[in-house]
Amino acid sequence: MPELSVSELLELDRRHVWHPYGPMPGRAEPLVVESASGVRLRMADSSGELVDGMSSWWSAIHGYNHPVLNEAAREQLGRMSHVMFGGLTHEPAVRLAKLLVDMSPDGLEHVFLADSGSVSVEVAVKMCLQYWRSLGRPAKQRLLTWRGGYHGDTWQPMSVCDPEGGMHELWTGVLQRQVFVGPPPVEYEEEYAEELRSAIARHADELAAVIVEPVVQGAGGMRFHSPAYLRVLREACDAHDVLLVFDEIATGFGRTGALFAADHAAVTPDVMCVGKALTGGYLTMAATLCTSEVADGISRGEVPVLAHGPTFMGNPLAAAVACASIELLLGQDWLAEVKRIEAGLREGLAPARELPGVRDVRVLGAIGVVQLDRPVDMKAATTAAVREGVWLRPFRDLIYTMPPYVTGDADVARVARAVCAAAGEG
Ligand code: PMP
Repeated sequence: MPELSVSELLELDRRHVWHPYGPMPGRAEPLVVESASGVRLRMADSSGELVDGMSSWWSAIHGYNHPVLNEAAREQLGRMSHVMFGGLTHEPAVRLAKLLVDMSPDGLEHVFLADSGSVSVEVAVKMCLQYWRSLGRPAKQRLLTWRGGYHGDTWQPMSVCDPEGGMHELWTGVLQRQVFVGPPPVEYEEEYAEELRSAIARHADELAAVIVEPVVQGAGGMRFHSPAYLRVLREACDAHDVLLVFDEIATGFGRTGALFAADHAAVTPDVMCVGKALTGGYLTMAATLCTSEVADGISRGEVPVLAHGPTFMGNPLAAAVACASIELLLGQDWLAEVKRIEAGLREGLAPARELPGVRDVRVLGAIGVVQLDRPVDMKAATTAAVREGVWLRPFRDLIYTMPPYVTGDADVARVARAVCAAAGEG
């Protein structure tokens, strides 16, 4: 195919290509990215180079075009880029499973290699429902979660996303009706903990699991909450025979200042989903981990297998890059890097507090959020950030950043300046 000019490309994009949450034909005017290296996106138009303040939605923790990840992909490409996983196994998948088991909270022993975050949540839910069926308690098939959450865009995860004003409101009434409690407060409040306990107790007979995003609710509103609630959930779930699922798809691999957000509370869930940064953002892969109790329970059932097996399960290329990405992360003082970015964001975002219309500024680990008291003007906010040389993707009333861990101090300051500019003009 001959090379397209930027205007031809945009016209074809508008006519034929769906974008996330986009109409067809497209209305938005996406910027065209040509290539990416380190923390910079090279744009095809006059915006030149932009520092990526989004890590491609939490995933590119080591930045782009990283020599170690490139080499892992190249080396694996020479062996095999894909092979079916039914009846066959291979070193990249086995090594990845072992790395995940070793680094995740104690007690998670078994790994299902899914191909996207949403699918890993589907698998988690299936594991939980099947566990209770196997144990002769098929009535336990609902899920409890707190409002303000987001767990993906496929059918079952949609049912545990925030039902009000959320992304999937259109389907209220069609989706399975789950049990919702209010969103967790920022600080620990005994009254709210009690609300959690009593909701779990009240619905225990029909609950397969509680599913939450630990410590940070991402796409549902970028809210932070006390890790102490995770212990409350663990105790209440244990007391009432309910499984506990942590969705660490966004929070995993160091982003919040702990390897997994569960580590802030030293809690092991029964099932845990990871994705996004798993492959350093290179390839699509996610994973669902579970304890031996869950796996053994499923194996004792009338149907003793987990009936799930995507075509691209255990993709060797993605698994090899995931191994390299995890080894790269663990082989450095990743916590120092995350703390360095946290300090830079705290300092750089402080001026946003003085801006009119700013409701809240919050920072945790390598995540910075400015919340407005009105919906963001997306176009104005993005333009302001691009003018500062930074790529941001605000949504609803939020301008937020989660830069790659390799973002240098000057670039962290630049990202923070861009967030402030976007908050001021957006
Ligand atoms: N859970 C959480 C917490 C997420 O942030 C996301 C992605 N935004 C998902 C699930 C879904 O993952 P994916 O987009 O890879 O399907």
